[in-house]
Amino acid sequence: MSSFADRTVLITGAGSGIGRQLAVRLAAEGARIAAVDARVEALDTLAAELAAGTALATARADVTDLAATRAAVRQLEDRLGPIDVLIACAGIGRKTRAADFSAEEINAILQVNLLGVVNSVDAVLPGMRGRGRGHLVVLSSLASYRGLPYLAGYCASKAGVNVLFDSLRVELRPLGIDVTTICPGWIRTPMTQQLSFRARDVLPVEVAAGFILEAIRRRRPFVAFPWRMTWQVRLLRYLPRPVSDWLITRALGRARRLAVPPARGG
Ligand code: NAD
Repeated sequence: MSSFADRTVLITGAGSGIGRQLAVRLAAEGARIAAVDARVEALDTLAAELAAGTALATARADVTDLAATRAAVRQLEDRLGPIDVLIACAGIGRKTRAADFSAEEINAILQVNLLGVVNSVDAVLPGMRGRGRGHLVVLSSLASYRGLPYLAGYCASKAGVNVLFDSLRVELRPLGIDVTTICPGWIRTPMTQQLSFRARDVLPVEVAAGFILEAIRRRRPFVAFPWRMTWQVRLLRYLPRPVSDWLITRALGRARRLAVPPARGG
């Protein structure tokens, strides 16, 4: 029997991409799926995709709204029972430019990717504490390892998530609650479809979901993948700043040259 059978799993951002793939896979393993998303149409198509007989309850909520997130979780628990696992997956990935620095733009990313996670944890943690068991899982990113150009808001949000979850893990373990941080590299989802990648740098969402589910099953504290990109960003993080800045600038130049089509006849 799957370790997820008869477990109630709350997934935020369940309507698309990674969250949706996890919902489908967990449902196939017999989990009860409590799905939250800001877009009701995405939840409706998820419900249509899941096999008849799946224990699914959906609630539209914007995770940046604490009261709405708490209300959604109460409503889902009334239908499915207490949440055993939270997978905080709702997130936005937007490029930002230092030359056009905008507090509003960065704030919007931090609100969803960092404070949305805080709100989601708040909505489930009192129940988990009362029962003396539970599992908090968050989708961070390899972009959390150091600031990357044009991703200042996104990197800051994911770095915040990592340290938030490191703190929680140490405090919550004695209370019977596990905490897992997942740091993937690029995964092909609607979030990344407007970006151009080399094929070897992007994982199919089905493969990524396999890594994520294995990490949750084993209650691993921190998982990063794929290994090649993980070692590249680890190196960038621990090299002296002038060296890692130079390497990043060089890689950016190469990416720009690749993106510019060669001039004809020239
Ligand atoms: P996606 O855009 O396909 O799905 C994100 C879902 O979150 C959408 O259904 C969206 O409606 C929902 N959402 C967005 N803001 C919300 C809000 N305020 N309240 C409730 N729901 C909201 O994205 P994805 O690629 O599946 O990403 C999922 C998570 O994984 C994100 O946290 C992302 O940062 C992280 N991640 C993605 C990649 C990647 O390459 N795709 C890599 C590393 C980490």
